[in-house]
Amino acid sequence: MSTKHVYYFGGKSADGDGKMKELLGGKGANLAEMCKIGIPVPPGFTITTEVCAAYYTAGKKIPAAAVPEIDAALKKVEAEFGKTFGDPTDPLLVSVRSGAALSMPGMMNTILNLGLSDASVEGLAKKTGNPRFAYDSYRRLIDMFGSTAMGCEHEKFEHELKSMKEAKGVKLDTELSADDLKALVLKYKAVYKAHVGHDFPQDPKQQLMLAIDAVFNSWNGNKAIEYRRIERITELKGTAVNVQAMVFGNMGKGSGTGVAFTRDPNTGENIFYGDYLIDAQGEDVVAGIRTPEPIAQLDSEMPRVYKQLMDIRQVLEKHYKEMQDIEFTVQDGVLYMLQTRTGKRTGTAAVRIAVEMAKEGLIDETTAVKRVPPDSLNHLLQPQLDPKSKVASVAKGIAASPGGASGKVILSAEAAVEFAKKHPNEPILLVRKETSPEDVAGMHLAKGILTSTGGKASHAAVVARGWGKPCVVGCEAVKIDEKAQTVTIGTYVIKAGDFLTINGTSGDVMIGKVETIEPTMTGDFNTLMTWADKARTLKIRTNADSPADAKKAREFGAEGIGLCRTEHMFFGDDRIAAVREMILAESEAGRKKALAKIEPFQKNDFVGIFTAMNGYPVTIRLLDPPLHEFLPQKDNRAGAEAVAKQIGVSVEKIFERVEELHEMNPMMGFRGCRLSLVFPEIGDMQVRAIIEAAIEVKKKGVTVLPEIMIPLVGVVEELTFLKKRAIAVIEEAFQKHGATVEYQIGTMIELPRACVAADKIAEEAEFFSFGTNDLTQMTFGFSRDDIKGFMPTYLEEKILPIDPFQTIDFAGVGELMKMGLKKGRDSRKAKHGTHLKVGICGEHGGDPDSVVFCHQIGMDYVSCSPFRVPIARLAAAQAALGEGGKRDK
Ligand code: PEP
Ligand code: MG
Repeated sequence: MSTKHVYYFGGKSADGDGKMKELLGGKGANLAEMCKIGIPVPPGFTITTEVCAAYYTAGKKIPAAAVPEIDAALKKVEAEFGKTFGDPTDPLLVSVRSGAALSMPGMMNTILNLGLSDASVEGLAKKTGNPRFAYDSYRRLIDMFGSTAMGCEHEKFEHELKSMKEAKGVKLDTELSADDLKALVLKYKAVYKAHVGHDFPQDPKQQLMLAIDAVFNSWNGNKAIEYRRIERITELKGTAVNVQAMVFGNMGKGSGTGVAFTRDPNTGENIFYGDYLIDAQGEDVVAGIRTPEPIAQLDSEMPRVYKQLMDIRQVLEKHYKEMQDIEFTVQDGVLYMLQTRTGKRTGTAAVRIAVEMAKEGLIDETTAVKRVPPDSLNHLLQPQLDPKSKVASVAKGIAASPGGASGKVILSAEAAVEFAKKHPNEPILLVRKETSPEDVAGMHLAKGILTSTGGKASHAAVVARGWGKPCVVGCEAVKIDEKAQTVTIGTYVIKAGDFLTINGTSGDVMIGKVETIEPTMTGDFNTLMTWADKARTLKIRTNADSPADAKKAREFGAEGIGLCRTEHMFFGDDRIAAVREMILAESEAGRKKALAKIEPFQKNDFVGIFTAMNGYPVTIRLLDPPLHEFLPQKDNRAGAEAVAKQIGVSVEKIFERVEELHEMNPMMGFRGCRLSLVFPEIGDMQVRAIIEAAIEVKKKGVTVLPEIMIPLVGVVEELTFLKKRAIAVIEEAFQKHGATVEYQIGTMIELPRACVAADKIAEEAEFFSFGTNDLTQMTFGFSRDDIKGFMPTYLEEKILPIDPFQTIDFAGVGELMKMGLKKGRDSRKAKHGTHLKVGICGEHGGDPDSVVFCHQIGMDYVSCSPFRVPIARLAAAQAALGEGGKRDK
């Protein structure tokens, strides 16, 4: 730990700077940086994140060495601001805020107006000539301090406020007089004493130390822990605490407060974007309680301040070379900046901003490529509401995060969590008056979010944008009745559980479901991808089983198929009967007869795929799943009757076979290469279909590169047997058609034994493709279909940092992969003098962190679903540019 605990900022100087985020938190580092570049910032100081860590190590005690530094920094603030903390005639008041190295919006505590007491509130009233303001500030302090530092329920204070308003017959807080607020302060103090057991502290220094404690404690509050879990934030030491001189936006018509982005965080357009409120404190804008005004209007209300803000916008973008999210307050016509940070944005905006900034010369192409989080491209790859849809809009709110979402209306975050547990596949549309940090778990599960209040910088808008979820806020026509579980929009009444649709791009709300359209790659997105392709060395293929998927993947830039799961083709209506006939056949002759019916379909599928891939390699895997998956299960008599009729056997016969095929552990049973070992005619049919299709397409002048892949190999002898058989079939086909094609025969590596024996296997295999779904399943002994019961606990208790089916478990599965890759490559080189091509085709192939890992261990390609191809392209480029995955940073 460094010896300095507290960093001062104020005037045009600061102890820290913008690079010190880890130590000072994002907010503290940027406040220091803004001072240094001459932007007006109220003076203050930052207590470091290391002090937070030491606080926890010492059993929740502020280290003694930090205390004199806090005192000294406070003295400097007093000198700079010209007021004294606790001065009964003209007190310095401070805010105490959290600020971790990574932004966690609204997750931790803030206390404002600190330093007020019974004596100094009088002084403030006199000095400002505004007793209403002074008492309002005091009652807010008692509320915030009581609820965040001392655990008093905020509702108890709210209850007093409500009673007072009722007693005075008024609706708004602003209608209460100075005397009303003075009386309210007494009530608040009584609430405080009843809960805490002693009076509200009158010593400002004591208030300050307790407030610092509260911010440190909020680091481990439920909201903060939940947010870090969702965002996979694991590496931070703690939060810093920022203590800063208060400036007031609620001192009348010449004051105000606002939040803004230097570019539009939804679309990325280069315009000043934000909201402000006259005569309000910062929390009023963010909390979404009052609907604020668009920032452009400030130009007519406070032209001088607006111009100064526009200048600061330029200065900040030039300095940070990044889109900034700023907070400001105007006190009696004087502008102060309270915060600047890198603005959260949608994926669409991230791409546009990166590309435009590169074109403006603010950053270079490489920086643009590094800057867009690969997963955020999801936003551009989401279906959009069909603009031709005839469903009429019934209300319009503020378009807060683009994209369209249809879902079942759920009225609270907790209800969303419960609903998702029971119906994991049903889309949720969360409809709320406003959202707060407590709601993040429910918000995360929703397809889209609709709120009736709030502006562009409200909690709902900021969080939804960060996650790329469609969101509409401030839709005042939406009336929510939680008790009745209904939403009323004009004359329409929508019950919880009914479908509602939002268009986060336009702000429209529609009743029912709306059709969506597929996205395409154009404009800035395409430009960024071109830059990414220049940087990457890893090839990107796709997992596709149909010509349509193959075509889509090509549009997204796939450079081949890494996995064609042939079993998916077996389910087609026109062939499933023949597949079932084959499974039910009692002899080889019977099976062959049924297979002969399937073969033309298979061949046609392959013709379509080879044609769509137009010269790119296509890896086709022989049949893999256990056969029972193709038959109706024991409890499905109706299904069995239909099948019986379809293929002309008795229901009993079907159930007999289902019984025979029943296995205790089907994923470790009769599947993979074992199927073709026992029934070689299945593999023969598939190999013949592949090669004959390849010959046919080649004859049309299209280059074909088929790669035949044998699944679930554990011992080389399995491969030797099947390869020999395949070559015989291929030779026969060549003879029959008087033509040849180039082809390869390789294997999937999806068993731990295959990794260990990879040297032997590579003597036979011409390529390896890691099937990390099975490899993860078999390495951990976790059934990939049954992790629901324990994985949440594993993650909560940090037994695993992340679900290993989502991101490769580098330490275990990853080590096996490294071993398999090295042994395989070395052995192939030694025995045949050739390079062993190695790729991955498990779901991890589309996960950015896993893509980085695959690049680092030297794979040739990754293969993922068509819609993740652009994400993988970008992740591969970032890996090549030395950007680690999230977990490596
Ligand atoms: C794998 O196991 O990773 C794989 C790609 O095969 P499947 O998911 O079809 O078992
Ligand atoms: Mg597999």
